[in-house]
Amino acid sequence: MKQKDYEILLLPGDGIGKEISEQAVKLIDWITEYTSTNFKIIRGLIGGASIDKYGEPITEEIIQIAKKVDAVLLGAVGGEKWDSLNFEIRPERGLLKIRKEMDLFANFRPAIVFNSLINSSTLKPEIIDSLDLMILRELTSGIYFGEPRGIVDISNDSKRGFNTLSYTTEEIKRIAIVAFETAKKRSGKLCSVDKANVLESTILWRDVVIQTSKKYPEVELSHMYVDNAAMQLVRNPKQFDVIVTTNMFGDILSDCASMLTGSLGMLPSASLGEMKDNKRLALYEPVHGSAPDIAGKNIANPIAMFLSVGMMMDYSFDLPEMNNLIKNTIDNILKKGFRSRDIADKSDKILGTQEIGDLLISELERVK
Ligand code: NAD
Repeated sequence: MKQKDYEILLLPGDGIGKEISEQAVKLIDWITEYTSTNFKIIRGLIGGASIDKYGEPITEEIIQIAKKVDAVLLGAVGGEKWDSLNFEIRPERGLLKIRKEMDLFANFRPAIVFNSLINSSTLKPEIIDSLDLMILRELTSGIYFGEPRGIVDISNDSKRGFNTLSYTTEEIKRIAIVAFETAKKRSGKLCSVDKANVLESTILWRDVVIQTSKKYPEVELSHMYVDNAAMQLVRNPKQFDVIVTTNMFGDILSDCASMLTGSLGMLPSASLGEMKDNKRLALYEPVHGSAPDIAGKNIANPIAMFLSVGMMMDYSFDLPEMNNLIKNTIDNILKKGFRSRDIADKSDKILGTQEIGDLLISELERVK
Protein backbone atom coordinates (compact mmCIF):
# COMPACT_ATOMS: atom_id res chain seq x y z
CA MET A 1 0.00 0.00 0.00
CA LYS A 2 1.42 3.40 -0.99
CA GLN A 3 1.35 6.00 1.77
CA LYS A 4 0.98 9.08 -0.43
CA ASP A 5 -0.65 9.85 -3.75
CA TYR A 6 0.39 12.77 -5.93
CA GLU A 7 -0.65 13.95 -9.38
CA ILE A 8 1.82 15.36 -11.91
CA LEU A 9 0.64 17.13 -15.06
CA LEU A 10 3.06 16.32 -17.88
CA LEU A 11 3.14 18.81 -20.78
CA PRO A 12 5.72 17.49 -23.28
CA GLY A 13 5.23 20.35 -25.77
CA ASP A 14 7.09 20.25 -29.06
CA GLY A 15 10.33 19.04 -30.68
CA ILE A 16 12.68 17.31 -28.24
CA GLY A 17 10.22 18.16 -25.45
CA LYS A 18 8.36 14.99 -26.38
CA GLU A 19 11.46 12.79 -26.44
CA ILE A 20 12.85 13.93 -23.10
CA SER A 21 9.39 13.74 -21.51
CA GLU A 22 9.19 10.02 -22.32
CA GLN A 23 12.47 9.52 -20.45
CA ALA A 24 11.11 11.52 -17.50
CA VAL A 25 8.10 9.17 -17.39
CA LYS A 26 10.47 6.20 -17.00
CA LEU A 27 12.15 7.98 -14.09
CA ILE A 28 8.91 8.96 -12.36
CA ASP A 29 7.55 5.42 -12.76
CA TRP A 30 10.74 4.09 -11.23
CA ILE A 31 10.42 6.48 -8.28
CA THR A 32 6.84 5.30 -7.76
CA GLU A 33 8.05 1.70 -7.66
CA TYR A 34 10.96 2.48 -5.37
CA THR A 35 9.33 4.82 -2.80
CA SER A 36 6.21 4.74 -0.68
CA THR A 37 4.79 7.49 -2.89
CA ASN A 38 2.46 7.02 -5.83
CA PHE A 39 2.95 9.50 -8.70
CA LYS A 40 0.10 9.54 -11.17
CA ILE A 41 0.95 11.23 -14.49
CA ILE A 42 -1.76 13.18 -16.32
CA ARG A 43 -0.82 14.22 -19.87
CA GLY A 44 -1.74 17.46 -21.63
CA LEU A 45 -0.81 19.63 -24.58
CA ILE A 46 1.02 22.95 -24.72
CA GLY A 47 2.70 25.03 -27.43
CA GLY A 48 2.53 23.97 -31.08
CA ALA A 49 0.96 20.62 -30.17
CA SER A 50 -1.96 22.48 -28.56
CA ILE A 51 -2.22 24.97 -31.45
CA ASP A 52 -2.50 22.06 -33.91
CA LYS A 53 -5.33 20.45 -31.95
CA TYR A 54 -7.19 23.39 -30.37
CA GLY A 55 -6.00 26.49 -32.24
CA GLU A 56 -4.44 28.02 -29.10
CA PRO A 57 -1.10 27.41 -27.33
CA ILE A 58 -2.76 26.38 -24.06
CA THR A 59 -6.40 25.72 -23.22
CA GLU A 60 -8.30 26.91 -20.17
CA GLU A 61 -8.85 23.25 -19.23
CA ILE A 62 -5.09 22.61 -18.99
CA ILE A 63 -4.60 25.75 -16.91
CA GLN A 64 -7.29 24.58 -14.48
CA ILE A 65 -5.67 21.11 -14.23
CA ALA A 66 -2.26 22.74 -13.70
CA LYS A 67 -3.68 24.68 -10.73
CA LYS A 68 -5.15 21.51 -9.20
CA VAL A 69 -2.34 18.97 -9.51
CA ASP A 70 0.63 18.73 -7.14
CA ALA A 71 3.23 19.71 -9.76
CA VAL A 72 3.61 20.37 -13.49
CA LEU A 73 6.47 18.99 -15.59
CA LEU A 74 7.04 20.66 -18.94
CA GLY A 75 9.27 19.68 -21.89
CA ALA A 76 9.71 22.63 -24.26
CA VAL A 77 7.66 24.52 -26.81
CA GLY A 78 8.17 26.06 -30.24
CA GLY A 79 9.26 25.29 -33.75
CA GLU A 80 9.45 26.71 -37.26
CA LYS A 81 6.01 25.37 -38.15
CA TRP A 82 4.39 27.97 -35.86
CA ASP A 83 6.88 30.86 -36.31
CA SER A 84 4.71 32.72 -38.82
CA LEU A 85 1.65 32.79 -36.53
CA ASN A 86 0.42 35.97 -34.91
CA PHE A 87 2.51 36.80 -31.78
CA GLU A 88 -0.50 36.28 -29.47
CA ILE A 89 -1.05 32.64 -30.43
CA ARG A 90 2.55 31.50 -30.84
CA PRO A 91 3.70 28.43 -28.81
CA GLU A 92 5.77 30.57 -26.40
CA ARG A 93 2.61 32.46 -25.35
CA GLY A 94 1.37 29.18 -23.85
CA LEU A 95 4.39 29.13 -21.61
CA LEU A 96 4.04 32.76 -20.53
CA LYS A 97 0.33 32.23 -19.90
CA ILE A 98 0.71 29.16 -17.67
CA ARG A 99 3.49 30.87 -15.64
CA LYS A 100 1.33 33.96 -15.18
CA GLU A 101 -1.92 32.08 -14.44
CA MET A 102 -0.18 29.90 -11.85
CA ASP A 103 1.50 33.04 -10.47
CA LEU A 104 4.90 31.33 -10.57
CA PHE A 105 6.92 34.29 -9.37
CA ALA A 106 10.04 32.46 -8.13
CA ASN A 107 12.19 30.89 -10.82
CA PHE A 108 15.10 28.77 -9.57
CA ARG A 109 17.89 28.13 -12.04
CA PRO A 110 20.76 26.18 -10.56
CA ALA A 111 24.09 26.09 -12.36
CA ILE A 112 25.86 22.94 -11.26
CA VAL A 113 29.09 21.75 -12.82
CA PHE A 114 29.58 17.97 -12.95
CA ASN A 115 33.34 17.65 -12.68
CA SER A 116 33.40 14.90 -15.32
CA LEU A 117 32.15 17.53 -17.81
CA ILE A 118 34.56 20.23 -16.79
CA ASN A 119 36.13 20.30 -20.24
CA SER A 120 32.78 21.06 -21.93
CA SER A 121 32.89 24.58 -20.50
CA THR A 122 34.66 27.38 -22.33
CA LEU A 123 36.14 28.50 -18.99
CA LYS A 124 39.28 27.20 -17.31
CA PRO A 125 38.66 24.14 -15.06
CA GLU A 126 39.90 25.87 -11.88
CA ILE A 127 37.31 28.65 -12.34
CA ILE A 128 34.35 26.28 -12.42
CA ASP A 129 35.25 22.99 -10.77
CA SER A 130 32.56 21.92 -8.25
CA LEU A 131 30.56 25.06 -9.02
CA ASP A 132 27.06 24.97 -7.52
CA LEU A 133 25.19 28.25 -7.64
CA MET A 134 21.53 29.16 -7.65
CA ILE A 135 20.05 32.04 -9.62
CA LEU A 136 16.64 33.07 -8.37
CA ARG A 137 14.78 35.14 -10.95
CA GLU A 138 11.54 37.06 -10.37
CA LEU A 139 9.27 35.65 -13.07
CA THR A 140 5.87 37.34 -13.19
CA SER A 141 6.57 41.07 -13.10
CA GLY A 142 9.20 43.57 -14.24
CA ILE A 143 9.74 44.78 -17.78
CA TYR A 144 8.29 41.68 -19.51
CA PHE A 145 4.87 42.38 -18.01
CA GLY A 146 4.87 46.13 -17.23
CA GLU A 147 2.27 48.46 -18.75
CA PRO A 148 2.15 50.65 -20.77
CA ARG A 149 3.98 48.92 -23.60
CA GLY A 150 3.78 49.09 -27.35
CA ILE A 151 4.96 50.60 -30.60
CA VAL A 152 3.38 53.90 -31.66
CA ASP A 153 3.79 56.21 -34.63
CA ILE A 154 5.64 59.44 -33.98
CA SER A 155 5.45 60.64 -37.57
CA ASN A 156 5.01 59.18 -41.05
CA ASP A 157 8.43 57.58 -41.06
CA SER A 158 9.22 57.18 -37.39
CA LYS A 159 7.89 55.06 -34.52
CA ARG A 160 8.56 54.71 -30.81
CA GLY A 161 8.78 51.34 -29.06
CA PHE A 162 8.48 51.30 -25.27
CA ASN A 163 8.13 49.02 -22.25
CA THR A 164 7.70 49.66 -18.54
CA LEU A 165 9.97 48.33 -15.81
CA SER A 166 7.85 48.31 -12.68
CA TYR A 167 7.91 46.50 -9.33
CA THR A 168 5.73 46.91 -6.26
CA THR A 169 6.91 46.48 -2.68
CA GLU A 170 4.85 43.27 -2.37
CA GLU A 171 6.30 41.76 -5.55
CA ILE A 172 9.85 42.40 -4.36
CA LYS A 173 9.19 41.27 -0.81
CA ARG A 174 7.83 37.86 -1.76
CA ILE A 175 10.80 36.98 -3.99
CA ALA A 176 13.21 38.37 -1.37
CA ILE A 177 11.69 36.08 1.29
CA VAL A 178 12.14 33.04 -0.97
CA ALA A 179 15.73 34.15 -1.62
CA PHE A 180 16.60 34.52 2.06
CA GLU A 181 14.95 31.16 2.88
CA THR A 182 16.95 29.52 0.07
CA ALA A 183 20.20 31.13 1.20
CA LYS A 184 19.52 30.00 4.76
CA LYS A 185 19.27 26.37 3.61
CA ARG A 186 22.48 26.65 1.57
CA SER A 187 25.66 28.54 2.54
CA GLY A 188 23.96 31.58 4.09
CA LYS A 189 25.18 33.96 1.37
CA LEU A 190 22.84 36.03 -0.83
CA CYS A 191 23.71 38.54 -3.54
CA SER A 192 20.92 40.81 -4.78
CA VAL A 193 21.52 42.11 -8.30
CA ASP A 194 19.98 45.40 -9.46
CA LYS A 195 20.77 48.60 -11.33
CA ALA A 196 20.00 50.93 -8.45
CA ASN A 197 22.42 53.56 -9.76
CA VAL A 198 20.08 54.41 -12.66
CA LEU A 199 16.68 52.65 -12.39
CA GLU A 200 14.13 53.80 -9.80
CA SER A 201 12.30 50.46 -9.80
CA THR A 202 15.51 48.78 -8.69
CA ILE A 203 16.21 51.45 -6.07
CA LEU A 204 12.95 50.21 -4.55
CA TRP A 205 14.14 46.62 -5.15
CA ARG A 206 17.28 47.26 -3.11
CA ASP A 207 15.37 49.05 -0.31
CA VAL A 208 12.86 46.21 0.06
CA VAL A 209 15.59 43.54 0.00
CA ILE A 210 17.42 45.43 2.78
CA GLN A 211 14.18 45.74 4.81
CA THR A 212 13.50 42.00 4.37
CA SER A 213 17.08 41.14 5.41
CA LYS A 214 16.34 42.36 8.95
CA LYS A 215 14.41 39.15 9.56
CA TYR A 216 17.36 37.05 8.37
CA PRO A 217 20.40 38.17 10.39
CA GLU A 218 22.05 34.78 9.74
CA VAL A 219 22.20 35.49 5.96
CA GLU A 220 25.09 37.58 4.67
CA LEU A 221 23.57 39.98 2.10
CA SER A 222 25.49 41.78 -0.63
CA HIS A 223 24.35 43.93 -3.58
CA MET A 224 25.79 44.17 -7.06
CA TYR A 225 24.92 46.13 -10.20
CA VAL A 226 23.91 43.85 -13.04
CA ASP A 227 26.73 44.84 -15.40
CA ASN A 228 29.31 44.01 -12.74
CA ALA A 229 27.44 40.76 -11.88
CA ALA A 230 27.66 39.59 -15.51
CA MET A 231 31.39 40.24 -15.49
CA GLN A 232 31.92 38.59 -12.06
CA LEU A 233 29.95 35.50 -13.12
CA VAL A 234 32.51 34.84 -15.82
CA ARG A 235 35.57 36.05 -13.86
CA ASN A 236 34.94 34.21 -10.59
CA PRO A 237 31.55 32.46 -10.38
CA LYS A 238 32.39 30.64 -7.15
CA GLN A 239 32.16 33.93 -5.21
CA PHE A 240 28.35 33.51 -5.49
CA ASP A 241 26.03 31.03 -3.86
CA VAL A 242 22.48 32.42 -4.25
CA ILE A 243 21.75 35.35 -6.56
CA VAL A 244 18.32 37.02 -6.54
CA THR A 245 17.33 39.43 -9.27
CA THR A 246 14.61 40.89 -11.49
CA ASN A 247 12.90 39.14 -14.38
CA MET A 248 15.02 40.49 -17.25
CA PHE A 249 18.35 40.55 -15.39
CA GLY A 250 17.70 36.97 -14.25
CA ASP A 251 16.91 35.90 -17.80
CA ILE A 252 20.25 37.20 -19.04
CA LEU A 253 22.41 36.19 -16.06
CA SER A 254 21.04 32.65 -15.95
CA ASP A 255 21.86 32.08 -19.62
CA CYS A 256 25.32 33.42 -18.94
CA ALA A 257 25.65 31.02 -15.96
CA SER A 258 24.39 28.17 -18.14
CA MET A 259 27.49 28.34 -20.30
CA LEU A 260 29.62 27.87 -17.20
CA THR A 261 28.27 24.34 -17.04
CA GLY A 262 29.03 23.51 -20.66
CA SER A 263 25.68 22.64 -22.21
CA LEU A 264 22.12 23.85 -22.25
CA GLY A 265 21.08 20.20 -22.10
CA MET A 266 22.25 19.99 -18.47
CA LEU A 267 20.20 22.78 -16.88
CA PRO A 268 16.97 22.23 -14.95
CA SER A 269 14.65 24.85 -13.48
CA ALA A 270 11.82 25.17 -11.00
CA SER A 271 9.17 27.90 -10.88
CA LEU A 272 7.19 28.23 -7.68
CA GLY A 273 4.12 30.19 -6.60
CA GLU A 274 2.99 31.37 -3.17
CA MET A 275 2.26 28.95 -0.37
CA LYS A 276 -1.55 28.78 -0.01
CA ASP A 277 -3.45 26.29 2.19
CA ASN A 278 -0.24 24.37 2.73
CA LYS A 279 0.30 23.97 -1.02
CA ARG A 280 2.62 25.72 -3.47
CA LEU A 281 1.88 25.65 -7.19
CA ALA A 282 5.00 24.56 -9.07
CA LEU A 283 6.25 23.97 -12.59
CA TYR A 284 9.50 22.22 -13.49
CA GLU A 285 11.20 22.36 -16.89
CA PRO A 286 14.59 22.22 -18.53
CA VAL A 287 16.03 25.63 -19.41
CA HIS A 288 16.58 24.70 -23.07
CA GLY A 289 14.04 25.02 -25.88
CA SER A 290 12.52 22.49 -28.27
CA ALA A 291 15.75 22.20 -30.33
CA PRO A 292 14.04 21.66 -33.71
CA ASP A 293 17.45 21.07 -35.33
CA ILE A 294 17.82 17.75 -33.50
CA ALA A 295 14.18 16.80 -32.83
CA GLY A 296 13.04 13.26 -33.67
CA LYS A 297 16.59 11.94 -33.98
CA ASN A 298 16.95 10.37 -30.52
CA ILE A 299 20.05 12.47 -29.81
CA ALA A 300 18.69 15.07 -27.36
CA ASN A 301 20.28 15.19 -23.94
CA PRO A 302 17.63 14.25 -21.35
CA ILE A 303 19.74 15.20 -18.30
CA ALA A 304 18.21 18.68 -17.77
CA MET A 305 14.83 16.96 -17.71
CA PHE A 306 16.01 14.33 -15.19
CA LEU A 307 17.44 17.09 -12.99
CA SER A 308 14.10 18.94 -13.26
CA VAL A 309 12.36 15.82 -11.96
CA GLY A 310 14.93 15.78 -9.15
CA MET A 311 14.09 19.39 -8.22
CA MET A 312 10.41 18.45 -8.26
CA MET A 313 11.05 15.62 -5.81
CA ASP A 314 12.89 18.00 -3.51
CA TYR A 315 10.76 21.18 -3.70
CA SER A 316 7.24 19.78 -4.23
CA PHE A 317 7.38 16.37 -2.56
CA ASP A 318 9.94 16.90 0.18
CA LEU A 319 12.14 14.08 -1.10
CA PRO A 320 15.59 15.80 -1.17
CA GLU A 321 17.27 12.40 -0.86
CA MET A 322 15.68 11.37 -4.18
CA ASN A 323 17.00 14.56 -5.80
CA ASN A 324 20.48 13.70 -4.50
CA LEU A 325 20.17 10.10 -5.70
CA ILE A 326 19.25 11.30 -9.21
CA LYS A 327 22.14 13.81 -9.29
CA ASN A 328 24.67 11.27 -7.99
CA THR A 329 23.52 8.60 -10.42
CA ILE A 330 23.86 11.02 -13.35
CA ASP A 331 27.33 11.91 -12.09
CA ASN A 332 28.25 8.19 -12.02
CA ILE A 333 27.01 7.69 -15.57
CA LEU A 334 29.07 10.66 -16.76
CA LYS A 335 32.14 9.45 -14.85
CA LYS A 336 31.90 6.15 -16.73
CA GLY A 337 32.18 8.12 -19.97
CA PHE A 338 28.59 7.80 -21.19
CA ARG A 339 27.36 10.95 -22.92
CA SER A 340 24.76 12.36 -25.26
CA ARG A 341 26.26 13.89 -28.40
CA ASP A 342 26.14 17.54 -27.23
CA ILE A 343 28.54 16.91 -24.32
CA ALA A 344 30.71 14.16 -25.82
CA ASP A 345 34.43 14.17 -26.56
CA LYS A 346 36.06 11.73 -28.98
CA SER A 347 36.85 9.14 -26.29
CA ASP A 348 33.31 9.10 -24.83
CA LYS A 349 30.65 6.45 -25.36
CA ILE A 350 27.82 8.25 -27.15
CA LEU A 351 24.29 7.13 -26.32
CA GLY A 352 20.89 8.18 -27.66
CA THR A 353 18.14 9.85 -25.62
CA GLN A 354 16.30 6.58 -24.93
CA GLU A 355 19.47 4.67 -24.09
CA ILE A 356 20.50 7.31 -21.53
CA GLY A 357 17.04 6.96 -19.97
CA ASP A 358 17.44 3.16 -19.81
CA LEU A 359 20.94 3.49 -18.37
CA LEU A 360 19.72 5.87 -15.66
CA ILE A 361 17.07 3.38 -14.59
CA SER A 362 19.47 0.43 -14.55
CA GLU A 363 22.03 2.46 -12.54
CA LEU A 364 19.31 3.52 -10.08
CA GLU A 365 18.32 -0.15 -9.74
CA ARG A 366 21.94 -1.04 -9.07
CA VAL A 367 22.59 1.56 -6.35
CA LYS A 368 19.21 1.60 -4.60
P1 NAD B 1 17.09 25.68 -28.06
O1 NAD B 1 17.39 25.65 -26.61
O2 NAD B 1 15.94 24.88 -28.51
O3 NAD B 1 18.39 25.17 -28.86
C1 NAD B 1 19.64 25.87 -28.87
C2 NAD B 1 20.75 24.89 -29.28
O4 NAD B 1 21.01 23.99 -28.20
C3 NAD B 1 20.38 24.02 -30.48
O5 NAD B 1 21.53 23.81 -31.26
C4 NAD B 1 19.94 22.72 -29.87
O6 NAD B 1 20.13 21.59 -30.68
C5 NAD B 1 20.79 22.64 -28.60
N1 NAD B 1 20.08 21.96 -27.51
C6 NAD B 1 19.08 22.47 -26.76
N2 NAD B 1 18.65 21.55 -25.88
C7 NAD B 1 19.39 20.45 -26.10
C8 NAD B 1 19.39 19.15 -25.52
N3 NAD B 1 18.57 18.80 -24.52
N4 NAD B 1 20.27 18.24 -26.01
C9 NAD B 1 21.13 18.56 -26.99
N5 NAD B 1 21.17 19.77 -27.57
C10 NAD B 1 20.30 20.70 -27.14
O7 NAD B 1 16.92 27.21 -28.47
P2 NAD B 1 16.51 27.85 -29.88
O8 NAD B 1 17.14 27.06 -30.99
O9 NAD B 1 16.83 29.28 -29.74
O10 NAD B 1 14.93 27.71 -29.95
C11 NAD B 1 14.24 26.65 -30.59
C12 NAD B 1 12.76 26.76 -30.27
O11 NAD B 1 12.57 26.58 -28.86
C13 NAD B 1 12.18 28.14 -30.59
O12 NAD B 1 10.90 27.96 -31.11
C14 NAD B 1 12.15 28.85 -29.25
O13 NAD B 1 11.16 29.84 -29.19
C15 NAD B 1 11.83 27.70 -28.33
N6 NAD B 1 12.26 27.87 -26.93
C16 NAD B 1 11.45 27.32 -26.01
C17 NAD B 1 11.82 27.37 -24.67
C18 NAD B 1 10.96 26.69 -23.66
O14 NAD B 1 10.07 25.95 -24.05
N7 NAD B 1 11.19 26.88 -22.37
C19 NAD B 1 13.04 27.99 -24.29
C20 NAD B 1 13.85 28.51 -25.28
C21 NAD B 1 13.47 28.44 -26.62
